[in-house]
Amino acid sequence: MAAEPVTPAAPPRDASAPAVEITVLIPAYNEAENLAPLLEKLTADLSALGRTYEILVVDDGSADDTLARLRDLRRTTPHLRAVVFRRNYGKSAALSVGFQEARGRTVVTMDADLQDDSKEIGPLIAKIEEGFDLVSGWKQKRKDPIVKTLPSKLFNAVTSSLTGVRLHDMNCGLKAYRAEVAKSVRLRGEQHRFIPVLAHWNGFRVGEIRTVHHPRLHGRTKFGSARFLNGFLDLLAVMFLTTSSRRPLHLFGRIGVFFALAGAAITIGYSWRWILGEGLRLRPALLFGTVLVILGFQFVSMGFLGELIASTRVHEPDYAVRERL
Ligand code: UDP
Ligand code: MG
Repeated sequence: MAAEPVTPAAPPRDASAPAVEITVLIPAYNEAENLAPLLEKLTADLSALGRTYEILVVDDGSADDTLARLRDLRRTTPHLRAVVFRRNYGKSAALSVGFQEARGRTVVTMDADLQDDSKEIGPLIAKIEEGFDLVSGWKQKRKDPIVKTLPSKLFNAVTSSLTGVRLHDMNCGLKAYRAEVAKSVRLRGEQHRFIPVLAHWNGFRVGEIRTVHHPRLHGRTKFGSARFLNGFLDLLAVMFLTTSSRRPLHLFGRIGVFFALAGAAITIGYSWRWILGEGLRLRPALLFGTVLVILGFQFVSMGFLGELIASTRVHEPDYAVRERL
């Protein structure tokens, strides 16, 4: 039985189609009611800019009428394309695939829920043209409940101080990227929150502008309280990937050598006293020293394993695209 291909081959347009100035990339998961008003305002604002553009919606495996609405809207909305996932992979996956599919010289991302205002696309592009590679929006007056805004302030403060990327609003959905940045970011987990960090670490120039924000009218937020723990773990992953992933042994080896040396000092000390004739009773400190030595060797071996993995090509995650509209 021949295996059924999961991902339809990308249409040949990629090579032949002319580049456009702007791609507006919109991840959408269960946003059926928002799509029509979103696209209406977006096309109006884009036409006012007087630049060539395309609108690329990534339907992240929506279970509502999002796909049906997209099909309808394709007939009436100029320059609208869509990538439709077979299942819900998450916002990071939707953005990753969208970045690879985008044909624009500048890629502007925005949320599908009408919380971001497409009026800001002009100012974002202007800032890119000033020489920035990535410009993030900053929702200074955020229209979300306090249970979201407060943790988000904390998250931004911690991320910004740990990574050295001075932005007020890392996770703003509204951002503009030079194509080179968009094509270079690889996102796993929920790393879309850290795109500015990843870009900064790759040497790109990151900036921000203040943008307006609206309350969500239809549908509900897709990120529950799990966002806090996931966000923290992803921060650790990003810090590790940006600082140590190329030299895992430097990190793990350091910790390992430190533990092993401390353990060796303790055990050698007791052994010496034993040689001098002192009885060797069960001592907690001696046990501790032995554990440290073992732990140290384990950390060093983890570093070696890391080096081995880093030295081979890392397999990029791929996502099952059902169709392209
Ligand atoms: N989104 C997505 N896949 C998901 C979750 C969210 O594509 O698994 C999209 C969602 O449709 C919206 C954007 O990501 O366009 C931001 O999501 P949401 O408004 O729920 O986040 P919040 O504004 O509450 O942080
Ligand atoms: Mg939202």
